[in-house]
Amino acid sequence: MSVYSKFSRGWCSPERYVQGPNEFDNLKLYTDKFGTRVAAFIDSFLYSAYTERINQIYNDGKHQVQTLVFDTEVTEETIEERTQELLTHKPDVILGIGGGKTIDVAKAVGTKLDTPFIIVPTIAATDAPTSSLSVIYRKDGSHAGEFFYDHSPRILVVDSKIIADAPTRFLVSGMGDALATLIEADSTRKSNTPNLVYHKDGGFRQTLAGRAIAKACYDSLMKYGVQAKIACENHVVTEALENIIETNILLSGLGFENNATSGAHSINDGLTAMENSSKTMHGEKVAFGCIVQLIAECAKTEYLEEVLTFCMSVGLPVCLEDVFVENTDENIRKITQASMHSNWNNMPFEVDEDLVFAAIKTADAYGKAFKEEWIRKKGV
Ligand SMILES: [Zn+2]
Repeated sequence: MSVYSKFSRGWCSPERYVQGPNEFDNLKLYTDKFGTRVAAFIDSFLYSAYTERINQIYNDGKHQVQTLVFDTEVTEETIEERTQELLTHKPDVILGIGGGKTIDVAKAVGTKLDTPFIIVPTIAATDAPTSSLSVIYRKDGSHAGEFFYDHSPRILVVDSKIIADAPTRFLVSGMGDALATLIEADSTRKSNTPNLVYHKDGGFRQTLAGRAIAKACYDSLMKYGVQAKIACENHVVTEALENIIETNILLSGLGFENNATSGAHSINDGLTAMENSSKTMHGEKVAFGCIVQLIAECAKTEYLEEVLTFCMSVGLPVCLEDVFVENTDENIRKITQASMHSNWNNMPFEVDEDLVFAAIKTADAYGKAFKEEWIRKKGV
C-alpha cells in the first residue's frame, strides 16, 4: 500500500473553492493573493472573448497579464514548450481557463515552474478541475498516462453562469462521471485500495470525509440531477443547478481522488479502445461502466434500477447502442480486454475476463430492456 503506513488515512483537496454566478469577474481578487504577474492559458474557441474580459478585469495599470491560447493535446513536449514561453514573464500565478486539456496544461506548467495555479472550468463535464493530476497524451492523440502532482490547485473559481451557458450535454456527462464516485468508493473501501493522495508514493486509506463526500455526491445527483439539467437547457442558474455544478466538479473530484476508482472507470477505458469512442464523452462511458460494475458485483436490483432510472431521466447511456457499440461477442471481448489494464484489480473480489465479459453482456441486455420499458411507459 503506502510507503508511509498501510494503516494511515490520507486526504487531499484544492486549498479553496468558490462558485457562483459571475465569479469570473472576481478573478483579480483571487490572483492578488499570489501577486500581480498573471499568466492565463485559455481554450482556443474561448480565447478572444475571455482575453477581452481579462483585459477589462486587470485594466488598472498594476498588473502584468499574459494570455496564452491552448488548442493542442497535452503532451510532454507541449508542457515543456509552454513552460519555456513563461520563463521571461515569470508569473506569480497561472490560470487555466476552459475544459480538461487547458486545465491540465495549466496544472503541468504551474508544477514545472513551482508557481501556484488557479483553475477556472468553463464546463462541468468531468471532475478534472479539482484533482492533482494531468492526463497526458502522445502526439498521435493516444493516451500516454498521467502526471501526478504533490499539490492540488490553489483555488477553483467556478462561474455558474458560464456553466449554465455551455451545452447541456457537458453537464449531463459530468453527472455520469459523478455517478461512479460512490459506486467505486464503496468497492475500493471493501478492498482497502489505496486512494490517490500522494499516489506516486503509494496512496493512503480512505478517510471518513472521503466516504461522506462520495455519499453526498450520489445523493445530490438523485435529488437535483433532473432539475439541474432543465435549468441548464434554459441557460439559467437555479439552486439545483448550483448543487449539480458543485457535485460534478467538487464532490466528484474529491470523491475519486480520496477514494480511488475501480470497475466503472475500467469500462470507460475499455470503451476508449472502440472505433466510435470519440462519439461519446468520458462521463457517458463511465455511466454505462457503472451499470456494468453493479452487475459484476451482483448489486441489489433496487439499487441497479435507481441508477438506470437516473440515467434515463437525464439522458445518460444505459446500453451498448447508447455508446455506439454493436452487441457482438467480438466487440464485448475487445472492451473487456482493453478494460483489464485499468482498475478492475481495485474490486473487493477476483475479476477476470470471463466475469467482465458476462457483466457487459448482462448490463447491455438489462439496460436495453429497461430503456424499452421506459420508452413504452413514457410514450416517447
Ligand atoms: Zn472520471
